[in-house]
Amino acid sequence: MASGIENGQIVQRLILGLALSTLAGGIAFQLGLLDGSGWLGAVLVGTAVFGFGGWPWAVMLMAFFVSASALTRYGSRRKAEAALGFAKGGRRDLGQALANGGIGAMLAILWGFFPHPVFWWMFAGSLAAVTADTWATEVGLLSERPPWDLWRGRRVPPGTSGAITREGTIAGGLGALGIGLLAVGLSPVGGSLGMALPVGLAGFLGMLLDSLLGATVQRIYWCDRCGKETERSIHHCGQPARPLRGWKGLNNDGVNALAALAGALSMGLWMIVRG
Ligand SMILES: [Zn+2]
Repeated sequence: MASGIENGQIVQRLILGLALSTLAGGIAFQLGLLDGSGWLGAVLVGTAVFGFGGWPWAVMLMAFFVSASALTRYGSRRKAEAALGFAKGGRRDLGQALANGGIGAMLAILWGFFPHPVFWWMFAGSLAAVTADTWATEVGLLSERPPWDLWRGRRVPPGTSGAITREGTIAGGLGALGIGLLAVGLSPVGGSLGMALPVGLAGFLGMLLDSLLGATVQRIYWCDRCGKETERSIHHCGQPARPLRGWKGLNNDGVNALAALAGALSMGLWMIVRG
């Protein structure tokens, strides 16, 4: 049940969290799912989430990471070309780990000091958002038809930042709802089955925000050699790319973190509105 920091077991839990996340991150590193810095990110996020939250929190985090990694691997050969445009390859690094799990880790720490139900549901909302975004991206890359840039109203090449597909959007919604159902099942604070729906919706909204920001204010570069848009400042061909649009310093990780925050804040607002 709600186990705050006052029970005096926090140090033991942090040590166990450190051990477990080092082990889990090491397995992911061996499988090629994380690079070295991503392993560090998994340890930082995992230790905070397990140490301050406990098992239900850690299982939620693992559900996101394992499902996202499995979908990244699924059809990876077909996706390779489209993914070249993205900032990063299949191996997740420190920036991605913190972008996806940082908000959740902060909520776990808050819960450690103040075990209020709102922090659990905000945690669920943030994980629903990053799950939806990752599922949508990975399934969308397998789409037969090119994705749609909603904000400019035209089809764009696969891998374009912020572009969406029907398949990806449906998958993202299902991923968010799955996190909602898991959050109800694992909840240390009670809550009816109906809570899965607002969590799923919060994740869906976070995903849409990610797409909107990715298509508008995220920093996008242009490679003169290949004549292609890219999220990387150095294109995969080796050519330094020049800024095309977006805000300096707002990269894909920043956009993902904002989407995670939006998912969390949506659930915070929901908790306030329904009392
Ligand atoms: Zn190039």
